[in-house]
Amino acid sequence: MGLKAFLSRRVVTPQGMRPAAVMVEEERIRAVASPSEIPPSVDREDFGNLALLPGLVDSHVHINEPGRTEWEGFETATRAAAAGGYTMLIDMPLNSIPSTTNVEALEAKREAARGKCSVDWAAWGGVVRGNQQDIEPLARAGVRGFKCFLVHPGIEEFSMVSEADLRKSLPHVARSGLPLLVHAELPGPVDAATEQLQTADWTRYPTYLQSRPDEAEMAAIQLMITLCREYGFHLHIVHLATARGLEPLQAARGEGLPITVETCPHYLHLTAETIPDGATQCKCAPPIRDHASREQLWQGLRDGIIDLVATDHSPCPPSMKRMDEGNFQTAWGGIASLSMALPIMWTEARQRGFALTDIVRWMAEQPAKLAGCQAHKGQISPGYDADLLVFDPEAEFQVTSDRLHHRHAVSSYLGETLRGVVKRTYVRGKLVFEDGEFPGRPSGREFAPASPEMSVRR
Ligand SMILES: [Zn+2]
Repeated sequence: MGLKAFLSRRVVTPQGMRPAAVMVEEERIRAVASPSEIPPSVDREDFGNLALLPGLVDSHVHINEPGRTEWEGFETATRAAAAGGYTMLIDMPLNSIPSTTNVEALEAKREAARGKCSVDWAAWGGVVRGNQQDIEPLARAGVRGFKCFLVHPGIEEFSMVSEADLRKSLPHVARSGLPLLVHAELPGPVDAATEQLQTADWTRYPTYLQSRPDEAEMAAIQLMITLCREYGFHLHIVHLATARGLEPLQAARGEGLPITVETCPHYLHLTAETIPDGATQCKCAPPIRDHASREQLWQGLRDGIIDLVATDHSPCPPSMKRMDEGNFQTAWGGIASLSMALPIMWTEARQRGFALTDIVRWMAEQPAKLAGCQAHKGQISPGYDADLLVFDPEAEFQVTSDRLHHRHAVSSYLGETLRGVVKRTYVRGKLVFEDGEFPGRPSGREFAPASPEMSVRR
């Protein structure tokens, strides 16, 4: 493959949005040039007024394979990703069987992924009770960091960790130099609140919301800040839902602690006030909170306290959502949004005066940095992988099940009209999605840095 030029009047680069020609050779971006500088002999693709963005990176996805492929899987998750403008996913260590809590399980995941991926991927490892001896071997074997739960995750194979468990694991996490991603809710406040709701009506969303109070998130955040101060590891708070968490996190960062923060499209789009009774497709943990909290999370993004937006794409078979009975207590918690995250975010962001450069920072640059692939992914810059997304920021569409592409067409967003259409997605220079179609064979692969020793700092 020779040199090829991708032109657009709106190319989003780290220096801002401008007319440019992105010169691609083999799998890499060779240069970002002025359109007038392209030699006439060069093959070109001109997208005109459509925007050209770096492929998005999703640092929070539950692919669930091997073991729960009936929930999702590499093939369907990475197709949904390509349709959503994502070119790289980092897979959570649960709910696959086995969970990715030792090197053998990581190898099983690699085996399961082979030949099925439309986009690139990498793995997070799990920190569970008693696996502290597996942490550094997992780091050397190529996980991008670790994930733990402070509250029961809803499945049996992945144990939650207590403060005592964490104290055994954190020296190893700190030595690996990799981030620890934390599901920050403590069981105490959740159990106490749920106890009070024994006879409540669980088809009503407010019942579920009350069962997972802000205090559960707040207590977990405080605990993790204390441990971060003590052990000096990179703490990453996943899916922040309570806006009350912003203040302590900002203060902790102010004292120089290595903390990053994520939230998800559903917390930035949906509100508790508008979730109908029985709408278990909107159940996730921590829960979607009220309108005021949503607006404060947007302010957290504006202020830079929230670094990034990841999907927490976590599908399951429709029967597990208990849609027939609409029971928020027994329904599986998890929202699938890989193919819709960008339009959801753009619809909300543009109304608040944000630009495509902000979207790229939250959904490409910062997630790539969290996963340690910021020298290869998440930017349109020379030397980077030619992961590109052709986006029509003005077009509107209605969310229909044929646009979802994950395994089961369950979605919180069906029927909504959203702004922003993904036209094409390229992974390392190869077209993987175009107007609803997936041309070519799946050629996504696991992200592996050029020098393996870079993945573990000693
Ligand atoms: Zn998750």
